[in-house]
Amino acid sequence: MNHAVKQARADSRAVERLVRGVPTSDGAGVRLTRVLTQDLQRRLDPFLMLDAFRNENPDDYIGGFPDHPHRGFETVTYMIAGRMRHRDSAGNEGLLGPGGVQWMTAGSGLIHSELPEQEQGLMEGFQLWLNLPARNKMIAPGYRDIAPAAIPEFTAEGGVRVRVIAGESHGVAGAVTRPDTEPLFLDVHLPARARFTQTLPAGHNAFTCTYRGSARIAGTEVPDRHMAILANDGTHAVCIEAIADARVLIVAGRPLNEPIAQHGPFVMNTAEELRRAFDDYRRGAFEAAAVRSM
Ligand code: MN
Repeated sequence: MNHAVKQARADSRAVERLVRGVPTSDGAGVRLTRVLTQDLQRRLDPFLMLDAFRNENPDDYIGGFPDHPHRGFETVTYMIAGRMRHRDSAGNEGLLGPGGVQWMTAGSGLIHSELPEQEQGLMEGFQLWLNLPARNKMIAPGYRDIAPAAIPEFTAEGGVRVRVIAGESHGVAGAVTRPDTEPLFLDVHLPARARFTQTLPAGHNAFTCTYRGSARIAGTEVPDRHMAILANDGTHAVCIEAIADARVLIVAGRPLNEPIAQHGPFVMNTAEELRRAFDDYRRGAFEAAAVRSM
């Protein structure tokens, strides 16, 4: 290894592990890849799940996600291609299109559906689950539909296009800020050979997810459809270099370091709280919840 390479590595967190994800299906038969699985919840605290879906065949998405509950965390849905309509138990409704985001706080609980608004063509996107701290798990539910034009964007050196969904990048504030975990969520489009550096607080857990082309981080190639867990090695940034034209999500956040108790769509701190979630759901408390648009 020559000196220049050593220098470059010291400026970027290393890749601790590459993760391919697990092909699965959820909702009414939607085929997806669970990239962040339950066994990684501790390591990637405060993030609980990342699903990636990219289906050309309507049979693989048309059933969508009919009515289901959530409690105790937030869901962030980022559409790349296709349209999805959400409806919740309070009568709210919204249409999520390419480049748009829905940021939903399940809090004390709601019931919603997420259904494709198309019968053919590509359906592609991501859903990220972000945990809430114990003291905020039972806050009132709410959601925000963020139109593509409302997501701040900038062009960095080398023609790198950056969409700032949450957090801050190069002085540009994102569409969403969350004080508890300070989540960073960027969608970075890099022309071949371009490089992009993002500051990351040393104590925050971080990962990238390549969804086009391939990239290199601190000497490790991160191929298409792979997550790279970034080492907590004391460096304050990640540097991504595109091998071919690439699109990469960068996600980071401050860990909560609290117990995680999950059963399906409920994520609490204890088994007792999970039992209460089921009881409340069974007696119809979720259906009665008021869900506000934020
Ligand atoms: Mn849902």
